[in-house]
Amino acid sequence: MSVSTDESRRTRRDEIAAGLAEVRERIGAACRAAGRDRDEVTLIAVTKTYPASDVRLLCELGVREVGENRDQEAAPKARECQDLPLTWHFVGQLQTNKVRSVVSYADVIHSVDRARLVEVISREAGKQERQVGCLVQVALDDDPARGGARPADVPELADLVAAAPHLWLGGLMAVAPLGEEPGKAFARLRELAAAVRERHPRATMLSAGMSDDLGAAVAHGATHVRVGTALLGRRKPFVR
Ligand SMILES: *Cc1c(COP(=O)(O)O)cnc(C)c1O
Repeated sequence: MSVSTDESRRTRRDEIAAGLAEVRERIGAACRAAGRDRDEVTLIAVTKTYPASDVRLLCELGVREVGENRDQEAAPKARECQDLPLTWHFVGQLQTNKVRSVVSYADVIHSVDRARLVEVISREAGKQERQVGCLVQVALDDDPARGGARPADVPELADLVAAAPHLWLGGLMAVAPLGEEPGKAFARLRELAAAVRERHPRATMLSAGMSDDLGAAVAHGATHVRVGTALLGRRKPFVR
């Protein structure tokens, strides 16, 4: 490795370390404010649009959970990082034709939002002899257009996941809707999660909160926050 490459790697490592320290501090503060134990909340580093070398640096810095939202990008990145002790979370909208690939590296899929997807993931997990964790994604604005199931459909979908071979039900996931105070939306999510947990006591994961709203999510019971920008920097605008 040349000196300049070495140096830029060190600079990038420092940048990420600073982001990580700040995010961990915010999570800690949110836990204290909510009277929760710090170890009730797990940070998932969302590495979309950032290279495998950043995943490697995050791992060096102690991160063990990473998230990706597009299979085309995630599959090669996960392959490049195969030697690392990481848990991979798939957090993006998922089409059934991508399920085979996603199941090959994802340990947990956060975006299960329809019965057909449960069926396909279960079958593929069986073929690949894997156990895949599934979270039911909730459309907190009751509009499934951007991904997520309507709140009214969530209990039944959770039952389906719990009953499907090769899958385990982790719990629920949501993204705060646009144009509503996140805390209000996360309060609804927390109620729905409690209802699901009554039927499935081991489904304790609540995946909510991103760079801008992780505090509100932790205040409302999030166990997993998914953070990209605050760790790695602002992503370039996505151009189709
Ligand atoms: C990109 C993304 C995140 C991280 O968002 P930031 O605002 O960059 O922290 C979290 N969850 C999902 C589903 C995402 O697509």
